[in-house]
Amino acid sequence: MAKLYIVATPIGNLGDFSPRAVETLKSVAYIACEDTRTSGKLLKHFGIDTPTFSFHQHNEHKKVGYVLQLLDSNQDIALISDAGMPGISDPGFLAIRAANQQNHQVIVIPGPDAATSALVASGLPCDRYVFEGFLPHKKGRQKRLKELAEEERTIVLYESPNRLVKLLGEIELYFGTDRLAAVARELTKTFEEIVRASVVDLKTEFEQRSSIKGEIVVVIAGLKYAE
Ligand code: SAM
Repeated sequence: MAKLYIVATPIGNLGDFSPRAVETLKSVAYIACEDTRTSGKLLKHFGIDTPTFSFHQHNEHKKVGYVLQLLDSNQDIALISDAGMPGISDPGFLAIRAANQQNHQVIVIPGPDAATSALVASGLPCDRYVFEGFLPHKKGRQKRLKELAEEERTIVLYESPNRLVKLLGEIELYFGTDRLAAVARELTKTFEEIVRASVVDLKTEFEQRSSIKGEIVVVIAGLKYAE
């Protein structure tokens, strides 16, 4: 039976790529990449010359059939995204579900992901949490925020740097000014930063910066959490 490997890749620091991940990517027949050019740099760095093909959110539906075809012909495939764990706000789910349905073995090679790294670094309770990924930009955003304001578990959100201040304003509005939160920026990279404060103080802090760069995770304490 052929195997579909789901391989996590670094979220910034190449030192986080595991030897098992490298070995796996060298051993398979093909690597399905979210972006073959982005992954090409990583693969080159680690001396991996396995053939690649693209597997991203715009061709995922079409490419699932191709992945199954390769697995059916007994060729092992690895799936990687641009950074972190495939399937986590990244393509992967459709191929994994299809491989499972067709009784192909799915093997995960764990590694970095921004959500759990930020959660742990935030110093907010991590015994129970919800991962929301990116909030919808327009339709349904307010409804989701109102629902999340009642959530008792710690909440983890992905956000782009140019929307961070807007999001902090919305959290202030729906969750209240005193709600504790953390912004984790550029995790594992040179300018890694974790700022933890009440949401009103976080907003003030980021509002006064002339620019906000890099990749960001926002972690919010659940309702009723108090220190
Ligand atoms: N699959 C990835 C994972 O496992 O975390 C997430 C991919 S998603 C398209 C990209 C988002 O993840 C970014 O916009 C940011 O919210 C978050 N992210 C990725 N790398 C990060 C980093 N080094 N520091 C902080 N957030 C990061």
